[in-house]
Amino acid sequence: MLTSDIERLLNEAKAARKKAFAPYSKFTVGAALITNGGKIYHGCNIENPSLMLSFCAERAALINALVEGEKKFKALAIVSGDKDYCFPCGSCRQMLAEFAPGIEIYLASGTGIKKFFISELLPHQFKKSWKAQLRGQGKQEYLQEKTQREKG
Ligand SMILES: [Zn+2]
Repeated sequence: MLTSDIERLLNEAKAARKKAFAPYSKFTVGAALITNGGKIYHGCNIENPSLMLSFCAERAALINALVEGEKKFKALAIVSGDKDYCFPCGSCRQMLAEFAPGIEIYLASGTGIKKFFISELLPHQFKKSWKAQLRGQGKQEYLQEKTQREKG
C-alpha cells in the first residue's frame, strides 16, 4: 500500500480507538480494516467485568466486515495508547488467518510503523484439514508420530 494509504488507515484506527470500552485495563485499542474494494471497517476493544468475555479491536473490525458480506481484505491497522506495538492476540491471528490469509497488518507505536503478513504472525494456523487427516489417510501416521512424541 502507498504510504499515504497506510497513514490514512492508521488514522482510521486511531479514531476507532476513541470508542474503546476498557475501564478495567485502561488499554484502549483501535483497528481499521480495508477491503480490496476500498471500504473501511472499524473495531475497538470492548471489555467486560468477566474479562474472558472481552473483545479485541481487530476481531471486531473483521466481524463487522464479515457481517456485511465482505470476503477480500487488503490491510489492517492496529493502534493502542501504548508506546510499544500492539500485536494481535492468538485468537485474532487465527481469525485473520482464516478469513484474510493475504492481509497486510500495520502496527503503529510511539516510534514507528511495522508491517507484517498474517503468515509471519501465525506460521502454523489451525486448519480444518487436520481434522480431515485424523479421519482419513494421515490418521495412522499422525497417531504413530504422536505416540513417539509422548514417549519422548
Ligand atoms: Zn485479539
